[in-house]
Amino acid sequence: MSTGDDHKAVTISLDHTVRVRFAPSPTGTLHIGSARTALYNFLFARHAGGSFVVRIEDTDAARSEERFEQAILDDLAWLGLFWDEGPDRGGPYGPYRQAERLATYREEANTLVAAGRAYPCFCSQERLDGLRAAALAAGRPAGYDGHCRRLDAAEVERRLAAGEPAALRFAVPAGDVTFDDVIRGPITIAGDAIGDFIILRSDRTPSYNFAAAVDDAAMAITHVIRGDDHLTNTARQELLRRALYPAAAAPVYAHHAMILAPDGGKLSKRHGATSVGDYRELGYLPQAVVNYLALLSWSHGDDEVLGVERLIAAFEPGALSASPAIFDIEKLAWLNHQWIMGSSDAEHERLVGERLPVGTPVPVVAALAAACKSSLERYGDVPALAAAVLERPTLDDDTRRVLAAVGERLALFAELRRRAPQPYLAADEARGLLGDYRRQGKERLALGPRDLLMPLRQALTGRDHGPELHFVLAALSAGETLTRLAATVDGIAAGGDDSPAAAPAAAPPAVTTEGDRR
Ligand code: GLU
Ligand code: ZN
Repeated sequence: MSTGDDHKAVTISLDHTVRVRFAPSPTGTLHIGSARTALYNFLFARHAGGSFVVRIEDTDAARSEERFEQAILDDLAWLGLFWDEGPDRGGPYGPYRQAERLATYREEANTLVAAGRAYPCFCSQERLDGLRAAALAAGRPAGYDGHCRRLDAAEVERRLAAGEPAALRFAVPAGDVTFDDVIRGPITIAGDAIGDFIILRSDRTPSYNFAAAVDDAAMAITHVIRGDDHLTNTARQELLRRALYPAAAAPVYAHHAMILAPDGGKLSKRHGATSVGDYRELGYLPQAVVNYLALLSWSHGDDEVLGVERLIAAFEPGALSASPAIFDIEKLAWLNHQWIMGSSDAEHERLVGERLPVGTPVPVVAALAAACKSSLERYGDVPALAAAVLERPTLDDDTRRVLAAVGERLALFAELRRRAPQPYLAADEARGLLGDYRRQGKERLALGPRDLLMPLRQALTGRDHGPELHFVLAALSAGETLTRLAATVDGIAAGGDDSPAAAPAAAPPAVTTEGDRR
């Protein structure tokens, strides 16, 4: 498995003409499905040595928010999907926010009007709603009926001159629309499924399809990789492209399948986490999320744990699967676990530390990190795992009786721990201490390891199982260890709060005990 600085872009070839784009609308945070689209674009750009462009589709002013743009960019960066051109860093085809390109759309719209390919529509919202309802009731496609296309020029002139609000509609030519898709082969969308659609709203802002068609051409986009929910949009955008830029080559289209929830429905909040931020909060590693999203519609032989460099080397949009992918949280958790196990101890400790209260002593973080590394699936699970060790257990009466009956074993261990000079033991010191306990328990009490260790675990954690005992010992201060033992057996002195009096005199002063017991 590749680890460490795995998100560095690797240039495989240098085809500078390849230009792909990720075009989020800043109306919410980054959905996991959109992140997958972004990933495929990123992987292909890097694979081909081309450019990955981020374009913000913010022409819906009522729903777009700057904070969402920032959140989306932050999430892309967290995933390691760095872009070559975008709103924050500019580039030769800027601006990269559609709200800053309104003049371009108006110009292009005028071109279509002049060519007789677009016309003003004066229809009221009520009329349009009525049309839609009637079409739905009759089982017809809910497209526009072309009413204003038939208005005579003089009337249009007069109503425009009178300042009547009008949208601009594209005059969709008769016939089906066919275009190529590298995943699916030729796609044909029935003409009557489209209907004359709006290109400029009455407030002179562009519709999504119009702005996207204009910008994909203006930004020299060569490949459009997006979800298959956009297939009919692609038909509209192709019609616009052919009308506006008949000499230009069509971009290569790749419509990947959507992610479905395990119940076959659209992946939504009701199935759990849906945004990249949710997964970050839950403690998934970006490498695991990227790895998982890549594998949702694509495979690389039997290899599953794949770092971004290998994904880049192998990725081809044409190899994406055309059938929907079922979101499998257990697979993601498994991959995350693989990435956690492959991470450096220092990085793992840092991420465990982030999930613990500020001020948790460094040796405690280290012990808990070491204790969980071989089993952890998500960093979000760390607080509960830590609490199971750090929270003083309440023992039930049965356990108390059982432990009292073997008090000499616990007293022996307490004596050994009291003699160790450190307030905190490193894991290997704790392992050594347990070795001493086993040796002396055998010599002095004639007991085997199980009889010695199980009561100790119960006394310290209140449970029969949990992290390896030496990690538990390393996570607890001397004082806390003795206090827990004292609670089970008369005659063991409590450890107090690790004040100098409680800690052995030889204790090195370097380790703070302030954070004990949290
Ligand atoms: N803003 C569109 C969306 O978020 C972009 C779709 C596209 O053209 O890729 O769905
Ligand atoms: Zn109309």
